[in-house]
Amino acid sequence: MFKGSKISLRMCMACRENKQKEKLIRVVKQKGGSIFIDKTGKADGRGAYVCNNLECLNLLKKKRGLERSFRCKVDGLIYDDLKKEMI
Ligand SMILES: [Zn+2]
Repeated sequence: MFKGSKISLRMCMACRENKQKEKLIRVVKQKGGSIFIDKTGKADGRGAYVCNNLECLNLLKKKRGLERSFRCKVDGLIYDDLKKEMI
């Protein structure tokens, strides 16, 4: 559908909309199990995305979206860190 397009789209874990990567915040889970916010967008590991807005962050928290995306327990502090990124 987006063949030939230079815009790379990623899906927000909360609202499930596809958006440009630049409008999302990337969270990465690395092989060792550490989970962090990837500001460079280039860190190794499994990436998941959330819109850069508080509504999606709150929804993500409520739905435990990170746990579901990464299939593991996630330290709740990550949501606070994400919030800081958005202010
Ligand atoms: Zn969203």
